Amino acid sequence: MKKITIAVDGYSSCGKSTMAKALARKLGYIYIDTGAMYRAVTLFCMDNGILQGDKADTERLEKELDKIQIEFKTLPGESTPLVYLNGKCVEKEIRSMQVSEKVSIISAIPSVREAMVKLQRRMGDRKGVIMDGRDIGTTVFPDAELKIFVTASPEIRARRRLDELSAKGSSVTYEEVLRNVQERDYMDCHRAVSPLRKADDAITLDNSEMTIGQQDEWLMAQYRKATAKNR
Ligand code: C5P
Repeated sequence: MKKITIAVDGYSSCGKSTMAKALARKLGYIYIDTGAMYRAVTLFCMDNGILQGDKADTERLEKELDKIQIEFKTLPGESTPLVYLNGKCVEKEIRSMQVSEKVSIISAIPSVREAMVKLQRRMGDRKGVIMDGRDIGTTVFPDAELKIFVTASPEIRARRRLDELSAKGSSVTYEEVLRNVQERDYMDCHRAVSPLRKADDAITLDNSEMTIGQQDEWLMAQYRKATAKNR
């Protein structure tokens, strides 16, 4: 079967990565979580004094960009790739609320986007890839054979995210998570470079009322249609 490129874009915490990971596992495709890449750059900025409060020292960041090495590694026996920043696994740190609160500031910086998009194109250049993010179908792979745009109500997304964070031992409140989801949506949709928007040829999925199983089935059906078209 000819391999294709699958772009999964959408709002924060709407289950993009859960469905993308499951499909990648079934198809033997590479899964790339591009949000994790922007989160890793944000962590680097926080750890190195490039981000003070909500203000990023863009000039310094641009000088240091080529020192930021981001890799995905899958450990033996595992199926989910982990994110490494300059050789260190940062999977836990990048998912914290502290990083979530700052990531949309860093991801709006044009030079950061340029560097990440270049890396993402390299990671996906052989097809057989499922990439999730905000600008995959519009900017990174505008020629992707299958584009999905995922959405769900902010309240449902905040609830799901809270459950995830609580399961990891975090003590954030529902209100804090909801505020973060809404703020990130706003910033991601209103930035000047590659704002979050649905590509004209993307298929919308509102999964507010769907179970994970129903969502996986729906995605598999879209994949079958796309591959039938691209035989
Ligand atoms: O997907 P996730 O919620 O982990 O993404 C974190 C943040 O990274 C988003 O809120 C957005 O600011 C940024 N992002 C982006 N472009 C992508 C993926 C993520 O700007 N392709």
